Amino acid sequence: MIGAPTGVVFPMAMTNQATMQVKLIDYARAPLEKLYAAFRTCYSADTPIEIWEKIEAEKIGRDKIREFIGERLKTGHASPLEQVVFWFAISGVSRSLSHQFVRHRIGISFEQQSQRYVRFKHDRLAYVMPESWERAKLEDEFAELLARTSDLYTRALAAGIPAEDARFILPNAAPTNFHVMVNFAEMLHICDLRLCVRAQWEIRRMVALMRAEIKRALPEIAVFLQPKCGENRMGYCDESLQDWQKCPLGRVRPHKSVLFELYERYGSRKAQALGEEDFRAVEEKEGL
Ligand SMILES: Cc1cc2nc3c(=O)[nH]c(=O)nc-3n(C[C@H](O)[C@H](O)[C@H](O)COP(=O)(O)OP(=O)(O)OC[C@H]3O[C@@H](n4cnc5c(N)ncnc54)[C@H](O)[C@@H]3O)c2cc1C
Repeated sequence: MIGAPTGVVFPMAMTNQATMQVKLIDYARAPLEKLYAAFRTCYSADTPIEIWEKIEAEKIGRDKIREFIGERLKTGHASPLEQVVFWFAISGVSRSLSHQFVRHRIGISFEQQSQRYVRFKHDRLAYVMPESWERAKLEDEFAELLARTSDLYTRALAAGIPAEDARFILPNAAPTNFHVMVNFAEMLHICDLRLCVRAQWEIRRMVALMRAEIKRALPEIAVFLQPKCGENRMGYCDESLQDWQKCPLGRVRPHKSVLFELYERYGSRKAQALGEEDFRAVEEKEGL
């Protein structure tokens, strides 16, 4: 295992507010070489052992490895990306975020702080407060409600209510922690969805910090971690036209409707709905 860089902390202003921290704890050794060997195994007469011998003898330079991987990543051949794995330590995120995060099911493994086993013993529960509450000048009411919740939670525990039942009054603002293992294929997918401005701000911020951590350690890999409209991903926005018009990335990335317009204006063909004859054409094409 290779040592990881220092974590990124997103500071919050008020005392009881939780601080988001994201740290790349580790990653599978030699990720670029692993990607290269995994892809090469598919396309080479060499055995994987021979491929690794060439890598280790430095018969294949780092530039060649980078270039080869870059070309493969432009294709739909994605399974080799599952062979590169990252571990993250994440803390101070809200239960609102965690509900969203754990919806990712494939290529990611979570351990999350339990509200059954952990009794919050501080005077006041920590919480995550969105900046919109401050902008609306409702932060005092927010803090006051949380303070009352905290008092009742503490009294509930003192009255013998088990933590797993006392937690029923805890809000979505309650902070939580994760230890996460995620592979590169899933990290790309998470960035596709969660770096998009359609994603909720807190999970977007967390995934941006995950990307920043990978970038610090492995810039060659991080270059592919983009929202789905990025030039190294799908390349265009497939959200609604109204959302694209509001998005700051709309200045630099096209909407799918624009691409169709260009296809029809400058291509020699008009985009049409697929008919049965198109499916027959697909069936009859052999050796694809
Ligand atoms: C902007 C936004 C708004 C959202 N709003 C809501 C909402 O209102 N309500 C709600 O419930 N959820 C919502 N979600 C969550 C969303 O529905 C998904 O649960 C979440 O994005 C993770 O799902 P995934 O399929 O990408 O999972 P992942 O596990 O990250 O998927 C990884 C890949 O595997 C594929 N995959 C995963 N499981 C299967 C399977 N069983 N069969 C075939 N392919 C599979 C996925 O399609 C994907 O390509 C929202 C997500 C976003 C980004």
